[in-house]
Amino acid sequence: ADLFRPERANSRGFDLHDARDLGRIERARAPFRDTQWQAGPLIAGDVAGGELHEVRNPARPGDVVGQVVLCSDADVETALAAARPWQADAATRAGVLNRVADLYEQNFGEIFAVVAREAGKTPGDAVAELREAVDFLRYYAARGQELSRGPRGVFTCISPWNFPLAIFTGQIAAALAAGNAVLAKPAEATMLTAHLAVRLMHKAGVPRDAIQLLPGHGATVGAQLTGDARVDGVCFTGSTATAQRINRAMADGVAPPAPLIAETGGLNAMIVDSTALPEQAVRDIVASAFQSAGQRCSALRCLYVQQDIAGPFLTMLFGAMDELRLGDPWEHSTDVGPVIDARAQADIAAYIDAADAAGRLLKRVDAPQQGHFIGPAAIRVSGLADLEREIFGPVLHIATFRAHEIDAVVDAVNAGGYGLTFGLHTRIDGRVEQVTSRLRVGNAYVNRNQIGAVVGSQPFGGEGLSGTGPKAGGPDYVPRFAAGDLPRHDP
Ligand code: GLU
Repeated sequence: ADLFRPERANSRGFDLHDARDLGRIERARAPFRDTQWQAGPLIAGDVAGGELHEVRNPARPGDVVGQVVLCSDADVETALAAARPWQADAATRAGVLNRVADLYEQNFGEIFAVVAREAGKTPGDAVAELREAVDFLRYYAARGQELSRGPRGVFTCISPWNFPLAIFTGQIAAALAAGNAVLAKPAEATMLTAHLAVRLMHKAGVPRDAIQLLPGHGATVGAQLTGDARVDGVCFTGSTATAQRINRAMADGVAPPAPLIAETGGLNAMIVDSTALPEQAVRDIVASAFQSAGQRCSALRCLYVQQDIAGPFLTMLFGAMDELRLGDPWEHSTDVGPVIDARAQADIAAYIDAADAAGRLLKRVDAPQQGHFIGPAAIRVSGLADLEREIFGPVLHIATFRAHEIDAVVDAVNAGGYGLTFGLHTRIDGRVEQVTSRLRVGNAYVNRNQIGAVVGSQPFGGEGLSGTGPKAGGPDYVPRFAAGDLPRHDP
């Protein structure tokens, strides 16, 4: 029902093939080329402040992007004591959240600059990031007005660095739309983006005791904010292991029992059969596996290609990988930016090297020497079962299957325990049904890429080890932040 509501429209964004839009982006970003942002706790009370954290550009480690004062234990206590559910009525809250969306759009230059320099976002990624954040704000503002129940109370929102604006904003917007107070703990790698976002929320009129920002480490600030009896719910996006830790902390510290809304990892597969259109499948594989340097939980990790076409198909795919341009994500010519930091780079590089030593490396693209870059790589496997963990970078595993094995491939995908995204390229209509009816995944995509779910039309979220639900950007999300736990039923 939601799809066809005439009043709902997604953010227009920018067309990177249009010279006028490119000019607008250039002019708006330019003043922030060398900015050093200063950030710290934004709490409703005096800040004591703790450790000072320096932020460097993952593409150009000599580029200092800013400094962040982290929270002290006392700051977390101040924030917990000050947190107050948002007293305004739902229509007023929606008006303010829509104003936040407008302010985000007006400040696109600074936003594009900070997500490029702090998080390695290419212009295309930055446009998508802003659009999704704005869409979350407007969509959840509307859903908040449909609730018949009040807020739970105080929500802790813990967000990842891979969507430093979109996911950060989505969690908060949902909690605020339902009238909760939010204690936001952004990922350590992207606290400057989070700080800019919360400043804009305050400017739009969200009360300072309804949204507070607590920059700091997961082990200290995150632990304090999830194991405290004053917290009525936790919303988390990140690794499955961290979600399990939070669940335990909540069980120990939070009384009465409070909900955890978690969106976690994925080991996502795609099947390409012998009837697929190769040019299209190659383009969609490259986008799914390597866009955002593979740092999406939705990214394609294991490609299954039908044996009959594997030879020429993989030649075409590896040729396309050679065309990818790696470099400074500030530049419009860049396809693949850096991974988030030195630790991620070392971990992914070691993984690829090990595959190489084992004779399983099929392809590796050269990477720039300076900066935290990983050249996109392809590794031969016999199937998903060979993947021990989610490698959060531009690494694609490739297996082959024979026509009669397609059901076994679906079984292997289901057996993995994760269930986030899935892709299928085929021209056989019956095969779409055969495969998708048995799959247990949140988002299955046919004859397209498998990233970039769109708020309001493609609710995003997984099953099993991939998360608790409800799906973000869908009608069931905001009700989970309201008192009680009744699912919303569309008439
Ligand atoms: N919603 C994003 C997508 O569809 C992925 C979110 C994530 O990586 O956490 O690409």
